Amino acid sequence: MIDPSVQDASKPLIKIRKLRKSYGANEVLKGISLDVHEGEVISIIGASGSGKSTFLRCLNLMETPTTGFMDFERFAFDFEAGARRQPTPQQLCALRARIGMVFQSYNLWPHMTVLENVIEAPIQVRRLPRKEAVAEAEALLQRIGLYEKRHAYPSKLSGGQQQRVAIVRALAMAPKVMLFDEVTSALDPELVGEVLALMGSLAADGMTMLLVTHEMAFARDVGTRTLFFDGGVIAEDGPPAEIIGAPRSDRLRQFLRRVLHEPACLGLPA
Ligand code: ADP
Ligand code: MG
Repeated sequence: MIDPSVQDASKPLIKIRKLRKSYGANEVLKGISLDVHEGEVISIIGASGSGKSTFLRCLNLMETPTTGFMDFERFAFDFEAGARRQPTPQQLCALRARIGMVFQSYNLWPHMTVLENVIEAPIQVRRLPRKEAVAEAEALLQRIGLYEKRHAYPSKLSGGQQQRVAIVRALAMAPKVMLFDEVTSALDPELVGEVLALMGSLAADGMTMLLVTHEMAFARDVGTRTLFFDGGVIAEDGPPAEIIGAPRSDRLRQFLRRVLHEPACLGLPA
């Protein structure tokens, strides 16, 4: 739960203003403004190419926005070329430790065991002593039921197990925010549930999360808010039940019809 003495609940944890990102002449993000509050679980939906992944990558500065502003914890950036508050390399590193990210393809390091995968960044970046990093990693692996696999190599794990280790590896950095980009899209259907269950338990623990997903039921049942991206802007923003359950725009209705094989199950017009 949010402790008001620690964080003013009305003050956003992340404040994004007028964020734009271009690749050459292709402007992919066309002015995104968003407040993310502590504990929000924000699902991002939208057609392929609408800028969802680019937005998440801009949030943890794997991509540098072309212009715009971002405030988060002690960071306050202005991305305009030549601006005084451009992020320094040290700030980039520090910010990425606070905003963890997991991708569609569980890119664990194949030459390292599960445990080595999880302790690497805490030792290298958080500068934890190895013993502490191992203790934390083992506790996390216990939590997801993969402690017994700690000395196995990723190739010996199922896709769902690998993706859960990838999530735990990000959690081992003790991030304040987690970003998930279609983390279940590459999984066999029978493995999707275990990964969503882990994400659901993180959400229940109060983790602030932004996730790009096609799992509409998860977005609706676990999420607190849904954003519909369309052509590089946030076209709709609201409670999942409203955005997914009672879409206002034709564009969103069309999108949901494409994604949901059974529109009737969400009460959408067929
Ligand atoms: P989404 O995740 O919604 O499918 P993306 O953010 O991946 O959309 O991509 C949005 C647009 O940005 C696409 O037109 C894509 O080709 C372009 N794009 C994404 N990443 C790059 C990149 N690294 N270089 C050039 N163009 C890119
Ligand atoms: Mg994407």
